[in-house]
Amino acid sequence: MKKKTNNINFNTKSIHIGSDPDKINGAISPAIYATSTYIQKAPADHYGYEYTRTHNPTRTRLEECLAALESAKFCAATSSGMAALSLVLHNLPHGSKILCGDDVYGGTYRQLTTIFNEIHNIGFIDTSDTKKTKKKIEEFKPDLVWIETPTNPLLKISDIKEISASTKKVKALLAVDNTFMTPYFQRPLELGADIVIHSLTKYLNGHSDALGGAIISSNKKFMEGIRYLQNSMGPSLSPFESFLILRGIKTLGVRMEKHQENSIKIAKYLESHQKVENVIYPGLKTHPQFKVAKKQMSGFGGMMSVNLKTNIAGAKRFIKALNLFSLAESLGGVESLIEQPATMTHASVPKKIRESIGIKDGLIRISVGIENVEDLTQDFDNALKKI
Ligand SMILES: *Cc1c(COP(=O)(O)O)cnc(C)c1O
Repeated sequence: MKKKTNNINFNTKSIHIGSDPDKINGAISPAIYATSTYIQKAPADHYGYEYTRTHNPTRTRLEECLAALESAKFCAATSSGMAALSLVLHNLPHGSKILCGDDVYGGTYRQLTTIFNEIHNIGFIDTSDTKKTKKKIEEFKPDLVWIETPTNPLLKISDIKEISASTKKVKALLAVDNTFMTPYFQRPLELGADIVIHSLTKYLNGHSDALGGAIISSNKKFMEGIRYLQNSMGPSLSPFESFLILRGIKTLGVRMEKHQENSIKIAKYLESHQKVENVIYPGLKTHPQFKVAKKQMSGFGGMMSVNLKTNIAGAKRFIKALNLFSLAESLGGVESLIEQPATMTHASVPKKIRESIGIKDGLIRISVGIENVEDLTQDFDNALKKI
């Protein structure tokens, strides 16, 4: 009952890869293999699975699907996005040189600067500045370059193709955190990157009810190392979370289209509002890297940041007056969320560094959901009056 999947398009892959019907009873929705271990026919003669930390059939299905969506050969699904980062960093020899974007996810910054700084040699740079980044790569000769594009929360875009040309020259690996765009809008491996990392917690799952991460690559040797570490250190994704995320992925395409459609309308609405200083959204012509965004992404996603013409107190009143936008960290779910990076997601980044990279106290980050867009703009309309 294995489906033929060689010549199918993205939305078909997201529904069919990893979702072959059950071989025994034909169930169209595969079982959740809630098992820790597997019987063996004779000692060391097993059915392909020995222990769930190492492998699990439900997780295998998700990994096959994710690898296909990112045009890769291999995928390892981890218990969170941060677990994926830690496996990638442990998979490098001690003392490796790592060059990282300076506007990455707060947790990524924290892991690099308070845990892996003891093990590796870590530098930061604004990777949306291509020229500066290429020069730095040639001088620093890193072993790994880690970029997030677009970044969080300033939506800065880095040119994957240009940066990969430089990493290839110095034989460095290029890892791209593709959480914001998902493979639906951006496929970094096709642009020259070596490794893609995801927080599956966000758009890929899409329903704010599971935590997960993934490391995706066609580099066999690198992924063998990842498998070894995953088995040895233990951050493997559970069967139930694997099932939920695989289920979420089936609607990835339609969700991403709707996130984008709503975002464009909201960005335009906010941009023209007198209480708004500026809107940062990759799909606006005013975005500093709009050209690069158009070149490497097939859409602009559902994340935006807004600078309100107000102080901390006014921003607080605005957030409090919202009805449909929930105040919460995280992003990428069907429901709209709002947060204040300076006091929430990026609180672990020191204030001085935060401000130097442009995260002001009045900056608001929005994860636009897939609700009715008129309801969402109405909600903003009411709340903006409270500033
Ligand atoms: C949330 C997030 C992470 C971390 O993922 P978790 O699943 O929360 O561990 C990493 N990168 C980006 C861009 C994120 O948004």
